[in-house]
Amino acid sequence: MATQDTGHRMNQATSTSTSTTPLLHVCERCSSDLVNPTQWDQAGPELWAVTLGCPNCGHSRGGIFSQETVDAFDAILDDGYTLLLEELRQLTEANMAEEIACFVAALQVDALLPEDF
Ligand SMILES: [Zn+2]
Repeated sequence: MATQDTGHRMNQATSTSTSTTPLLHVCERCSSDLVNPTQWDQAGPELWAVTLGCPNCGHSRGGIFSQETVDAFDAILDDGYTLLLEELRQLTEANMAEEIACFVAALQVDALLPEDF
């Protein structure tokens, strides 16, 4: 009797922890882990209505998720964005150098007109 009770409680704990924290960043269609929120609205004191979009296959889904789930998603996004921002920054620097060179060249030949902006 006592053994059965312990086993039951352990099972319950396991299933609870997996069902309350779904992995929002994983696409349910293509399993890509790059899913990001396209819309994000507060739906209640501890609830969020989130629309998710997968950049890989274009699949989108939405749902109401708990604060805990959204916090976990947010932390994953933060990690992803940090990496992404770092890549973007490097890319921007490379592009900027090119753009600035073009801009300077245009200024020098007086080819820049107000309607270019
Ligand atoms: Zn996908």
